[in-house]
This record gives sequence, C-alpha cells and structure tokens, in this order.
Amino acid sequence: MALDAMAYRNFKQEMIGFIWKELDPYEHEIERTGEIPRDDLFPKLRRMRCFGLTVPEAYGGVGLSVSQYVPILAELSKIHGGIRVIVHVHNMTAKAVAALGSEEQKRALLPKVATGEWSVAFGLTEPDAGTGRDLKTRAVRDGDHFVVNGRKHLITNSEFASHFMVFGYTDPSRGARGISALMVDRGTPGFTIADMPETMGCRGGQHGYLTFKDCRVPVTNVLGTEGEGLLQMTAALETSRLFIAATSLGTAERALELSLEFAKKRSTFGKPIAERQAVQAYLADMATDIYALRTMVTDAAHKADRGERIPAEASMCKLFGLEAVGRVTDRALLVHGGVGYTRKYPIERLYRDARLNWVEEGTPTIQRLVIAREFIEGYRWTSDRDLG
Ligand SMILES: Cc1cc2nc3c(=O)[nH]c(=O)nc-3n(C[C@H](O)[C@H](O)[C@H](O)COP(=O)(O)OP(=O)(O)OC[C@H]3O[C@@H](n4cnc5c(N)ncnc54)[C@H](O)[C@@H]3O)c2cc1C
Repeated sequence: MALDAMAYRNFKQEMIGFIWKELDPYEHEIERTGEIPRDDLFPKLRRMRCFGLTVPEAYGGVGLSVSQYVPILAELSKIHGGIRVIVHVHNMTAKAVAALGSEEQKRALLPKVATGEWSVAFGLTEPDAGTGRDLKTRAVRDGDHFVVNGRKHLITNSEFASHFMVFGYTDPSRGARGISALMVDRGTPGFTIADMPETMGCRGGQHGYLTFKDCRVPVTNVLGTEGEGLLQMTAALETSRLFIAATSLGTAERALELSLEFAKKRSTFGKPIAERQAVQAYLADMATDIYALRTMVTDAAHKADRGERIPAEASMCKLFGLEAVGRVTDRALLVHGGVGYTRKYPIERLYRDARLNWVEEGTPTIQRLVIAREFIEGYRWTSDRDLG
C-alpha cells in the first residue's frame, strides 16, 4: 500500500503547506483554552483527508505506506501535539481495522472512517490492571453476543469517537491467547464515557474513561480471530511504535530549528550566543541525536514497507526517540535561557508535548523488554546486508 512517487510528492508538498498555513495558527488558541476547536478544525482536516492517511485506497483512504506517513506525522508534531494526537490515534486504529477486520467489517467501517465522518478509538489501558495478560475486562459469550464488563482509561478521542476497539478476555483460561478485540459502537447500552483531567502537554487532546456494565456486543464485532486479538494487534501495530518515534523526530527537529534561530538573534556580551562554543556544543548534540533518530526511523520504515516484521526496530526507535527528544528539548530550553521557560516561545510547549512520548505505546521499560527478548531469541540484523 503506497501512493506512487509523483502522487506522494504532490500530496506531501500540499500537506506540509496545509500544516503550516492552516493548522499552525491554532497553537495559541489551543494553549490558551486547553481545547481544540473541533467545529472549526475538523472540516479542514477532512478536506485534506487527514482522517484517511493510513486507510487503503480501496476503502476511500489516501493509502500512505509507512515511510510516506512518517514525515507527515513528524511535521504535525512540530505545530501542535494535541492535533497530532487526534490524527495519529484515529489513523493508527484505522490501520488496525484494515489489518485485522473481515472484508465485511472493513466495508462497513473504513469508508466513513477515511472521511472522518466516523472515528475509531483504541481501548486497551485499564485503571485497575497492567496492560496485556493482566487485563480485567471480561467479555462472556451469551448466544450471539458477548456481555462486556470492565473499565478503561486514558482512551484518546473518546469525546467524539464513534467506535471503540476494546480489548478484554473472552477466555481467561487461555492467558494471552484468550484476549479478543471487540468493536463497540458509541451509544451501546451499558457503555458509558467520562472525561479525564487535562494533560501536561499535547493540550486539547482528550482522553477518557470507558466503563462497560453488562454491555452486549454482537459476536460479529470481534476483530481478527477470537482469543488472538491482543497478539494479532501487537503484530499489526508494530509500526505504531515507529510512529511515536516519528513524533519524537518532528518535535526534536522543531526544537533545533527554533534554537538555531534564537541563538543567532540573542546577543550577550556583544556577541550572538551562537558564536559561543558552549552553545554550539548544545546545538551539535541536538543535531547528532536528530540525525541518528532520523536514520533509524527511515531504516525501520523501509523494512516495514518491504513487509518485514520489525518488533525490535520499532521498540528501539521508540526508545531512542523518547530519550533523544528528551535530550533535545532539555538543550533547547538551555539555549533559550529564561525566556524558554515562558510562553513567549513554543519551546516550553514542545518540551511538554514530547513527554507524552514516554508513555504512548508503552513505557521505556516495555520497549527494553521487547528489545531484549528479540535479541535473546536470536534477532539478526537484516541491515548487515545493506552494509555489505
Ligand atoms: C495522553 C495519553 C493518551 C493515551 N491514549 C491511549 C489510548 O488511546 N488507548 C490506550 O489503550 N491507552 C492510551 N494511553 C495509555 C498508555 O498507553 C499507557 O499509559 C502506557 O502504556 C503505560 O501504561 P500504564 O499507564 O498502565 O502504566 P503502568 O503499567 O501503571 O506503569 C507505571 C510504571 O510501572 C512500570 N511497570 C508496570 N508494570 C511493570 C512490570 N510488569 N515490570 C516492570 N515495570 C512495570 C512502568 O514501566 C511504569 O514505569 C494513553 C496515555 C496517555 C498519557
């Protein structure tokens, strides 16, 4: 799945123009109010087909490949984390539906998801359990329905999503092979949604509590194979860790651009601070982190586009990305001095936005567990071949 090179070049150019001309101006309003003006913003996102970026063309989407989606996500991350979160979670969940849904499910859901008329949210994390085999949500078969009971929290886009992909045990006796993914329509009796407190960064993004109390969901709403939902989803969504790394990349690139601009303008003791070796060292370290991250993300994206599995690479990109953007935004604050801590410059927002990358798609601990497991089980560097 990919746009041909010429079509992509045109689409990307148009998209980048759109991001800076039409989305960037929302930054101040969102930071001031803590809210995304959806009535105003969403028609624009729809016009630029932002809700269909990862949806295959056959279902009305843009059909971007992994390496085509990455630069667009990185660019969105530069202008505002809250807008990035909305677009990313919608597209990531749509990608999962495209990967796991039956033909009937895809035909029913994806065309309206691609236009943004509908939106799909991802419901895995729970307030009373760890993510994975520890899940407490249960879906018990009763005729041609499952009866779902449980709680989820931190579920992005819950304020407006029309459908929720919800993970719970359909057969607790089978461990990880007993967890299924169910599509639950908003408004299903027994399913309620509540707001959570606002977040440190990526403001305006909205993340809710979901509660299921004897909520009846048709068995035809199981995505993928019953009992294999979590395992299939983990495989289908390897690239979403890469997408968080792309977010780190975009945020870090913007922090460097702003720091270079600032360092050339700000003078102390008669010289721009860009001429001080200590400041140059910050800038050099930032650029080096960005180059390393960009190279890793590009390599992993191309592997994914070639159809290779990338569990280790995706986790390495996500882990390195969050540490790199952490270092880069720390240094960007130092380059800006005291004003960097104020809202005069976007550096303090980039700093806060970047911190979501620590937890989104799993903590650093989880990434290290995945990477170590892959290597212990005999991971081989496919890129050895590229090095000759
Ligand atoms: C803004 C935002 C949006 C989000 N959107 C979504 C969404 O749309 N859908 C969704 O499903 N989730 C979403 N999440 C949840 C996110 O994926 C989780 O917060 C993240 O994966 C960490 O899980 P947790 O919060 O349960 O942390 P916990 O599991 O409670 O972890 C707390 C700490 O304990 C450590 N820890 C936990 N278990 C172990 C262990 N077994 N061994 C060693 N260390 C351990 C962790 O590494 C971490 O340091 C979102 C979170 C945020 C902040």
